[in-house]
Amino acid sequence: MKLAHGTTVIRNGQLVDGTGAPAVREGVVIATDGRITYAGPAAAAPAVSNATVIDARGGTIMPGLVEAHFHPTYFDVAALEDLDIKYPVEYVTLLACVNTKLALECGYTSARSGGSLFNIDVWLKKGIESDLIPGPRMSTSGREICGVGGLMDWNPDYRKIGMEGLVLLINGADEARAAVRKLVKDGVEWVKTYPTGDAAAPDTNDHHTLCMTYEEMHAVVATAHNHGMKVTGHCRATAGIKNALLAGYDTIEHGTFMDDETLDLLLERRTPVVPALYFELASIQRGPEFGLSQRVIDGHQETLDGGAESARRILRAGGRIGLGGDYGFAWNPHGDYARELTFFVNYVGFTPLETIKCATQTGAEIMGRSNEFGTLTAGKLADILVVDGDVITDISILEDRNRFIAVIQGGIVKAGQLTKPSLPG
Ligand SMILES: [Zn+2]
Repeated sequence: MKLAHGTTVIRNGQLVDGTGAPAVREGVVIATDGRITYAGPAAAAPAVSNATVIDARGGTIMPGLVEAHFHPTYFDVAALEDLDIKYPVEYVTLLACVNTKLALECGYTSARSGGSLFNIDVWLKKGIESDLIPGPRMSTSGREICGVGGLMDWNPDYRKIGMEGLVLLINGADEARAAVRKLVKDGVEWVKTYPTGDAAAPDTNDHHTLCMTYEEMHAVVATAHNHGMKVTGHCRATAGIKNALLAGYDTIEHGTFMDDETLDLLLERRTPVVPALYFELASIQRGPEFGLSQRVIDGHQETLDGGAESARRILRAGGRIGLGGDYGFAWNPHGDYARELTFFVNYVGFTPLETIKCATQTGAEIMGRSNEFGTLTAGKLADILVVDGDVITDISILEDRNRFIAVIQGGIVKAGQLTKPSLPG
């Protein structure tokens, strides 16, 4: 991805640096050739000449957001079947390009894929890095791995649908290894697995059901780590979370139902969790209008309560939480990503500064790129949001992309009001 040439000064706004530190009331960020050279109080900023000046209009200057559980290929999913047979790969690829552009416009300058149809996210990343299409800096995941008969294996044999575009189905440790080896050749960075079920499948794979054995999970981790890949998994049931931690998973998606022993293990290993929890509230609130059964909605309520409690306990105990998740469903569409932040402030009880840290610094740590972005720190890439408003007082401002004065990636203004053409006077 190209970096800017020259120097930009962003001034006249409060500075929220993404570390969780209190906002600096009169902040300035200076970036030269796409990298931050100064971020701090205006009074201490070095003098610069020949700079482009961006006026934050008394609003907020903060790091670009990181979507830590992004499904670029999900689109208008109203039933699990919509994930595998609704559209051909050609059309899904086009939809995914629209979604990455939208994510950037929504202030997400980076994103970790939480699983993608076919290998589309690997090629999206290539397109974005080559400046062919706009989008977040990506970490890729490709096809997911699940045990036969598990959450992601819903087509009975008579349908003769192999699911090859969505998930690699495995039986036993040997097949788990074989599946990871396929992904190595695809160029995938994160192996996404399904250790547990979900409220969405109450009959056979509910949120307390295991969909992979410890042996299968351990084989995935050993093979993936051998090839320099990381492993994550959809973990709701307590035993599934525990298995994932013991097997050496690099992150946990959801981490819903945790007992004390599992929480201790998580904290000891410093494993980040991405709760992806607003999805549960959206499923409860809007499920009836999309025909979700009361049983499914009750399961989402149990998941929401358990997940919120676990997230609070993790953060209070000093653990790491990344934010993002599962946007692309009919009742939780792409573009709504920042609702996750408002939800964590209003419903879960994180402070705005804690929430922003989770959505920036911790997201970058999860991607393994915290030396490159995630905070406003000299030396890092100038991935910066300039927001018209005080996001500490009202974090929901971040939900409205019209409030972005500028979405900046590598020092280049990619979206926001400053990219809109001015009308002829
Ligand atoms: Zn997901």
